[in-house]
Order: sequence, then structure tokens, then C-alpha cells
Amino acid sequence: MSDFDERDKSDEKEELLDMDSDMKGTGGGDSDSGNEEKKKEYEDVCFICRRPESKAGKMFKLPNNITVCNDCMHKTMDTVSQFDYQGMLNNPSFIDDLNKNMSGKGYPNIRFVNIADLQGEGGIPNKQRLKKKKPKAGEEPVLDIKNIPPPHRIKAQLDEYVVGQEHAKKVISVAVYNHYKRVATGTMDDIEIEKSNMLMIGPTGCGKTYLVKTLARLLDVPLAIADATSLTEAGYIGDDIESVISKLLAASDNDVEKAERGIVFIDEIDKIARKKNTTSRDVSGESVQQGMLRLLEGADVEVPVGANSKNAMVPLATINTRNILFICGGAFPDLEEIIKQRLRKQTAIGFNAELKDKFDKDKEILSKVTVEDLRKFGMIPEFLGRLPVIYTLAALDKAMMVKILKEPKNAILKQYQKLLELDEVKLEFDDDALEAIAEKAMEKDTGARALRAIIEEFMLDIMYEIPKDDNIGRVTITRAYIEGTGGPVIDIRSMSGENPDNLNVIEDKSM
Ligand code: ADP
Repeated sequence: MSDFDERDKSDEKEELLDMDSDMKGTGGGDSDSGNEEKKKEYEDVCFICRRPESKAGKMFKLPNNITVCNDCMHKTMDTVSQFDYQGMLNNPSFIDDLNKNMSGKGYPNIRFVNIADLQGEGGIPNKQRLKKKKPKAGEEPVLDIKNIPPPHRIKAQLDEYVVGQEHAKKVISVAVYNHYKRVATGTMDDIEIEKSNMLMIGPTGCGKTYLVKTLARLLDVPLAIADATSLTEAGYIGDDIESVISKLLAASDNDVEKAERGIVFIDEIDKIARKKNTTSRDVSGESVQQGMLRLLEGADVEVPVGANSKNAMVPLATINTRNILFICGGAFPDLEEIIKQRLRKQTAIGFNAELKDKFDKDKEILSKVTVEDLRKFGMIPEFLGRLPVIYTLAALDKAMMVKILKEPKNAILKQYQKLLELDEVKLEFDDDALEAIAEKAMEKDTGARALRAIIEEFMLDIMYEIPKDDNIGRVTITRAYIEGTGGPVIDIRSMSGENPDNLNVIEDKSM
């Protein structure tokens, strides 16, 4: 009859018992003095949907230490009875009458419980509870979206983390500025400002995801990253398109208001281009683009709270995507060829046809992309129409790779230097060594992603050997070490002081 009947409660109960005994094992629930403390540290969990009190709101406390959230209680009541239980069961005189009536009829052990009495702290021991998350220390966002700083300041913040990609950083700063200004001012009366959803085009590993992540962190807004290849039209195997909003809600700790100001990044968007020459139903290409239109524009979406699939047991939250900033990214292979073709056609019409192959050498060819080229690639016009800000990121060259290694605030080299500093060892890199790392990374053709892998590989020995010897004061990484033809230069600490700066070069040894 009810949805709840279908659920196997016995598993649930076992879990609860486990939790109970766990808590006792760690001293929970036994001593009176500890009880109050514990109460503060733990929170109730709904017996049915498993959400904690902080997410589901105040709980009903039922006998046998069972707590049920408002949503589930109401659903149960709806299912079980048709009468106005709220009005009646919350009415003390009704309950009293009912109880008198029952005992008068010879049912002395049957009592109706006033639901209103069950809510609140009263009487039920500290069981079936989850440890509350400690609230994060009140960090101020670097960029406040309620009072969004001008684009040049947003870009200056991005500069501290993202190397190069000047054009992309400029465009994204302006778009974000406009977007959050639009959000802050609400709907304009007569002029509706268009949403600044973006399409980012750039080769793999050039910093697309990194740029968005950095931005979301600086703005302190929730970010959901999804892969377009995993999305399918609703009803097919795979995540349906609305699941990205569900992810965003999860990233916002189920705070709907926060989610509605968040950023959704959909990677690999080029993979949902319209497939050429297909006769079968296209569930992951064009139809996903179609399905995304509503979200990009702004729609009310019902998403499950605290779960990733909709079912009868999970409460739903309605999220409006109007103020969610959508950023799509992709490498768009072969797009260059489409651009070149177009440009060649244009020049062929003119008289300077000899310039035709100049495009082959043009490194910035991608930045000449137009909406028309993207349509040719297989993106549908309606989809492109909802991504008004289109820009490209450049492939990383050697000089940029070197900068990525050492310049950003959280550069990889800085991270290793910090680690070794804890052992009072100075880590240095020859400029030549950095170039060697960059050259190796360039060979792999995965952009900056290769850098970390390469560094981790040769730092392993260093991180293993250095702590063995307290006398080591400085390690210098050389090109020879990176290329495997020599070792790092090791400087031994001077005996006269503990200061790692006080170094005597005693030996150069290979590892
Ligand atoms: P993709 O463009 O494929 O999304 P990512 O953004 O994931 O590439 O880049 C991979 C990693 O490379 C990032 O985590 C970041 O550390 C580094 N990286 C890439 N580009 C840059 C850049 N321009 N500045 C700083 N770091 C970068």
C-alpha cells in the first residue's frame, strides 16, 4: 500500500543498532555528564530518508529512539490516513479524548501520541545521531559576489594562479562581473540583461577546468563539474542532464539559495556534437544539447536532495537555474581544419590566393573561431545561442610551462619546497632543469597535466633519500638529473649552525 512498506526495514534497524553500540563503545550515551556534550556533538538522522537534522530540519521523535524528519512523517501520514492528522493529532484535547475513549473500551495499553510533543529535545536519549559537521571558520571570499569587484580586479586575482591565457582571463572576468551584477540587481524592468553563459575552447591541459575552479574558489560559490560524455537524455542509461544541478546542490551543502548562484562547468562539450551520418537515435549527442537548452536559459528543475536519483523516498528541491552560470569547455579537435577551410574559401575569392597556406602556420587559428564554424562542427544553433560568450585558450608553450612550474601561488615547485622546508632542507631548481621538465611535458601532449607526473617521478627519490641524512642542507635539481644522466647537487649543512642557509658545499653526489 505505501511506499514505505516496500522498504526492508530490518537492514536499517541493524545499522541503527550498530551505530548505537559504536557510540557506546566510544563512551557515548553512558555517562550522564557526557550526555549533554554528546547531544551537542551529534545530530539526529531521519529513520526513513537518512538525512541528518541539519539538512532535513526538525525531527519528530518517536518511541524506541526513532526520529523521522518532517517530510517523511508527512508522507507517511498522507499514505496511512486520509484524515486531517495535523489538526487532530496535534490537538491535545483530541488526543486526551481519544485515549480516554480507548481505555474506556478496554484497550488500556493503547495510547495515542501527540505529535507536537514529539518535536523538540524532550526525553529521547542521544541515539541514532550523526556527528554534526563543524561550521567552517568564517572565511571571507576573496571576491564578494554581492559586491562584485570590477573586472580588472577579478583578473588580477586570477593572475595569481593562472599563467598566461590573458584573453581568456579578461573575457571570463568581464562575463563574471556582468553575471553577478545581473544577479545582484535582480530582473531589470525593461531591459533584461542576457545571461553570460560561456563556451571555452582550448586544447587539453591548457587550464580550462583550472580557470573555472580557481574562479569558483575566489568567488566562494559552489561549483559542479560534469562531463558531457556521461550525460544522456532523460530516461536513458547514464546521468540525465538535470543531474548536474543535483551535483551543484550537493556542492552547496543542499542549500538551494547558494546553489542558485553557483557555477556549472560542463567539460568535453565537443563530444556531444551532432554526429554525422547516424541513422540510430542520438541519445548522447544532439539530444543532450537539446536537453540542456532549458537549463542554460533558466528553468525550474526538481532535483532530489541528498541523493542522485529521484525516487519516492527522496524529497525534491526546486532549483531555478536562471542565475546559475554555465561554462562549457572542450578541446574541439578538427575545429582548426573547419576554420582554415572557411578562411581559405574567403581568400580564394579574392586575388591573394597565394596566402592560402599561411593559415597552416598560424598558431592562433583557433582564436578566429566563429559561431558558424562551431555549427559546422556539430553544435546546434539553439545551443550556441545560449552560450553568448565564446573564447579560446592557447596551447601551452615551453615558457608557459616553466612559469606554471614556479610562478602560481600554489605552484608545484613551491609545494615541494615547502615540504622539504619542514625537514630544514632547501630545494632549488636550475633554470635549465625547469626547461628540461617543460620539454619532457611538451612531448606528452597533455598540456600542463604532464608536469605533475614528471615531477612526481623524479622527486620520489629525493623525498625518499633526503630524510635519511640530517646533514643535508640543500638539494639542487639539475638538467642532468631530469634527463637521467647525473644526480642532483647535494650541499651539506655547515657544522657551525643549524640554519639551512649556512651551507658548505662538501660533496656533489648522485642519487
Ligand atoms: P583542461 O584544459 O584539460 O581542463 P586543466 O585545467 O585540468 O586542463 O589543467 C590541468 C592542470 O594543469 C591544472 O590542474 C593546473 O594545475 C595546470 N594548469 C594548466 N594550465 C595552467 C595555467 N595556465 N596556469 C597554471 N596552471 C595550469
